Amino acid sequence: MGGPAILCQGRCAVWEEPIGPAGVRLRDRAKSGPAPGQVSVRVRAAGLNHLDLWVVTGAQRVQPPRVIAADGAGVVESSGDPGWRPGDEVLFYPVSACWRCERCRRGEHVHCARFAVLGEHSDGAACELVTLPAQNVYPKPASLSWAEAAALPLAYLTAWRMIVTRARLSPGETLLVVGGSGAVGTAAVLIGCHLGARVLATTRSGAKAGALAAMGADRVFGSSGFSRDVLDATDGRGVDVVVDHVGAATFDESLRSAAPGGRVTTCGATSGLVTGLNLPRVFVRHLEILGSTAGNAGEFASLVAAAGDGLRPAVAKVFPFPLVADALAFLTTATQIGKVVLVM
Ligand SMILES: [Zn+2]
Repeated sequence: MGGPAILCQGRCAVWEEPIGPAGVRLRDRAKSGPAPGQVSVRVRAAGLNHLDLWVVTGAQRVQPPRVIAADGAGVVESSGDPGWRPGDEVLFYPVSACWRCERCRRGEHVHCARFAVLGEHSDGAACELVTLPAQNVYPKPASLSWAEAAALPLAYLTAWRMIVTRARLSPGETLLVVGGSGAVGTAAVLIGCHLGARVLATTRSGAKAGALAAMGADRVFGSSGFSRDVLDATDGRGVDVVVDHVGAATFDESLRSAAPGGRVTTCGATSGLVTGLNLPRVFVRHLEILGSTAGNAGEFASLVAAAGDGLRPAVAKVFPFPLVADALAFLTTATQIGKVVLVM
């Protein structure tokens, strides 16, 4: 292929210094057309994730400069791929992979040795014009606004793979989302409801409990000692599936909340690494602990189809693109529920 897989052009939000949101500046980069197999897209909206905060503070150990944002949506400007034409409305699969290795050919892009998330290990979507492989481009569901389309990719793909592929949630089962008011948490609540599960959630913030209930969570609990509430709410049985992105602070409670044969999925350890895993709790009750991060292109296709079928991502706040540093600073306050999106 030659050259970077993701090429950001025109006005770009570039992380230049590991000092937090103030280290992101608007810079202009040269424009060029797509090579064969690539598509150039005029970005209409770019979604931010907590990952961007880790990148701009230097916590991810990636080197600047980097155009931020895993998530984006826009209009095809020119195409080097016969599948896309100027004017097509699209959103981006937020993962870069080699597309050629045995793992990629099996559809396991998350196992590719060159797996990378846009805006982290490659440039991202917060720019005026982006050229990327045609494999990263999917049709935008007409039912989604630009901000909603840009809210969908990374957090919802992460939750989708955890719930659908890894934990094999069935309609009628009960799903517990630990940390329900985070980005992956709200995605998991909305996806669980969309798939016909009974959804329980926890949140540290009493103010956010009502919002989670409005999204469809049947019961919302506080974050300390929540397994007692979960067992009460399930007649002592526990839940079939747990989504936990919090880590050390909640993982033992997540295990306690699972029914015999339950599946406990983890995609994050923001509260620290789990220590003192209670193994009898796992083997006596035949629990599965399933690790997951991001998702494959096939899972993204299923997610986009679900969005066309009524799954609607939650957008907390929209910022104009030039206010990208303000948007990142807002994200650090963690007062929002739903995604923070930049619109062009
Ligand atoms: Zn590969």
